[in-house]
Amino acid sequence: MQSDALNSKITMPDLVSISIHDGVAVITVQNPPVNALGPGVPQGLADAFAAASADAAVRSVVVIGGGKTFIAGADIKELEAAARNPKAGGPDLHPLLTSVENFPKPVVMAIHGTALGGGLELAMAGHYRVAVAEALLGAPEANLGIIPGAEGTQRLPRLVGVPAAIDLCVSGRLVKAPEALTLGLIDKVIDGDLLAGAVAFAAEIAGQPVSKTCDRNDKLGNPADNEAAFAAGREQAKKIRPHQTAPIWAIEAIEAATKLPFDQGCKREREISLETLASPQAQAMIHVFFAERGVAKVPGLDKDTPSYPIRKVGIIGAGTMGGGIAMAWANAGIPVLMKDTTQEAVDRGIATIRKNYQRSVDRGRTPQAVMDQRMALITPQLSFDGFEDVDLIIEAAFESMEVKRQLFTEIDKIAKKDCVLATNTSTLDIDEIANVTSRPQMVVGLHFFSPANVMRLVEIVRGKDLAPQTLATALAVARTLKKVGVVVGNCRGFVGNRMMFPYMREAQFLVEEGALPEQVDKALTNFGMAMGIMAVDDMGGIDLLWRVRQEYKHLDKPGVRKPVIHDRLYEAGRWGQKRSAGWYKYDDKLKASPDPEVHALIEKTSAELGFTRRAITTEEIIDRCLYAMVNEGAKILEEGHASRAADIDVIYTTGYGFPGWRGGPMWFADTVGLKKVYERVCELEQQFGSDLWAPAPLLKQLAESGKTFAQWDETR
Ligand code: NAD
Repeated sequence: MQSDALNSKITMPDLVSISIHDGVAVITVQNPPVNALGPGVPQGLADAFAAASADAAVRSVVVIGGGKTFIAGADIKELEAAARNPKAGGPDLHPLLTSVENFPKPVVMAIHGTALGGGLELAMAGHYRVAVAEALLGAPEANLGIIPGAEGTQRLPRLVGVPAAIDLCVSGRLVKAPEALTLGLIDKVIDGDLLAGAVAFAAEIAGQPVSKTCDRNDKLGNPADNEAAFAAGREQAKKIRPHQTAPIWAIEAIEAATKLPFDQGCKREREISLETLASPQAQAMIHVFFAERGVAKVPGLDKDTPSYPIRKVGIIGAGTMGGGIAMAWANAGIPVLMKDTTQEAVDRGIATIRKNYQRSVDRGRTPQAVMDQRMALITPQLSFDGFEDVDLIIEAAFESMEVKRQLFTEIDKIAKKDCVLATNTSTLDIDEIANVTSRPQMVVGLHFFSPANVMRLVEIVRGKDLAPQTLATALAVARTLKKVGVVVGNCRGFVGNRMMFPYMREAQFLVEEGALPEQVDKALTNFGMAMGIMAVDDMGGIDLLWRVRQEYKHLDKPGVRKPVIHDRLYEAGRWGQKRSAGWYKYDDKLKASPDPEVHALIEKTSAELGFTRRAITTEEIIDRCLYAMVNEGAKILEEGHASRAADIDVIYTTGYGFPGWRGGPMWFADTVGLKKVYERVCELEQQFGSDLWAPAPLLKQLAESGKTFAQWDETR
């Protein structure tokens, strides 16, 4: 029943509404799609509470989200604005949370979907929380480089205790309602209809004294245990979020909760919160957040372009990539046919898939029944039987143009007319592959990353004849697989690998001139890269890059320096992890350690090349490796092979282990200052020649006009 008297007092009836059910005021937030606490919502809630307070018939209150979810968090646009202008202070929910907590009648927060960030903070200010079993709760602020800054660090430990509060803030993990109940974050799991259950619960407790979260000190622990918990939390942060400041600050704020009265703890939290919001890390992570959402806007593609429905997929190749891609589809509930050429290859592929799923079952992450369902969706086979009625074929056979041309000629004949044909090639020309078919407009590159069932990035390679509907389908594929699809142009290595070539080249040059592999890797991991480039090379296989080099030998320019050391490793049979020896030596658990044999090989190669080995600084390693990458990125942008610098940042943060807290390579260059980057590139050009280091004209132009890549993006 709608209360007209109450509604008339509400200033934001579209965002927050109120109705009365048997003495229970139901306040509903209606801010689709995720009921974010955007402009108007806090005021709407405050008005609704004022109205409920004024109505003597109201004995208790339920707050619920309209649509699919409770409040999924703050409005990130507001956070972004605050990060850009920290002096303005950002959104302050304190008055709302105080009035909710001090509300004289019991307030029940009814949660479905997600209660995250600011949504959880509001929920914690209520007197009770009930949730459906599937609801997810969490404090993922660290993903944006900030802390739960709306009293979350003060109320969370009061509800769940200090160690659990630290874990939730540091990891940012989301917990399902049953775990939230065990932790003390909610009071009841509701079976059946949430609203009916919450209203019944609120009616039951009406008239009883309320318990305020801010007054609950029983879970705040004792100083000795807390010190141990803080130390463990800092260790956890170092391990799972190395270099990131937000989790450390969150622990500091939780520490304040244990040492200060609630109000003072909130003040301390606010100071810390503003500091994190203004930090370069928060700005970088908020940039990545929006960049990931921005990649779906593809210049020249109408957002309403229809896509082909994908109900069944055919995969060619049951190797590393074919198997991973098959798992990604099975995880999305879509059946796949996986073809290889020999029984042995098919068996090996299926065994690897089974082993991967089994590991997840053994770790308690996947129920056995789910594994069985997923395995049943993958049909291994030696023929193309059934490929005539799949909607999408993804080729993941050997990286050879000859193999791909043969395969595409064949599948073009078998596949139905509206079947999209995709290749997972990492470097080959998509147009050349498309042109052997009768449907080049339906041939697209879907460049997955290894392991394909885990890595979020898919580069969507746009050939010259690609039809909008095929492109829209490729974007839909990424969404279905819960991946980030970034549209890139058809150039050698596309975007990610193309930028890797100069990055790896410089790393190897540095080794030839005087650095050691472990020194290069240490400089890079200290910078924040998930792995050093030498360790990456060992993982991918020295032989793999060697083979790529043979394929492109005809493009080598005579007289231009090329790394030699990689060939020496290959010739010595040091093919990386698979041989327990590459840039490093590996024990049987694949733990790497520096190898004197490699050092000797490097010294010999340096001498052979005429280098007197010299001391190389960390600064030189970072400048040469990263600026080579950024300079290539600028060339890619001006050639139009990436639509925006932000797209490149997404490729690198989701597919190449570039630290999100640095915002991706192009954002990183912006933060250094493009003038400084350009000047250093010019110095390196002087030192090593224009073939390797000619500055990209776009870099020059932006540097000279005092602009950033981010500003250039705004003009796109
Ligand atoms: P892989 O050697 O592990 O697997 C290739 C599989 O394809 C083998 O099982 C082989 O038997 C099978 N195959 C070869 N010719 C075939 C044919 N005519 N019909 C059916 N099956 C055939 O190789 P991979 O690492 O999975 O790479 C596959 C493709 O993915 C390559 O184009 C590669 O460049 C690309 N890729 C690889 C990675 C990576 O990290 N490994 C990343 C991105 C893209």
